[in-house]
Amino acid sequence: MKQFTCLDATPEGGTPCDFVAQGETSEEVINMMKAHAGEKHADLIAQATPESMATWEQMAPTKVTDV
Ligand SMILES: [Zn+2]
Repeated sequence: MKQFTCLDATPEGGTPCDFVAQGETSEEVINMMKAHAGEKHADLIAQATPESMATWEQMAPTKVTDV
């Protein structure tokens, strides 16, 4: 089982949020986090640039933990 918390998904200084995505694969929890961010952190997504999204895409798998 994989886990990805919103705190880990958010850059430092980001919104404190206790959302936790859990699923069978890294891909699944990352997609859940994207859906969550689009819904609950639309302000952050609105500020994102293609560069910052690319950085996030690279960072995300490193923040996924096994549970
Ligand atoms: Zn969140």
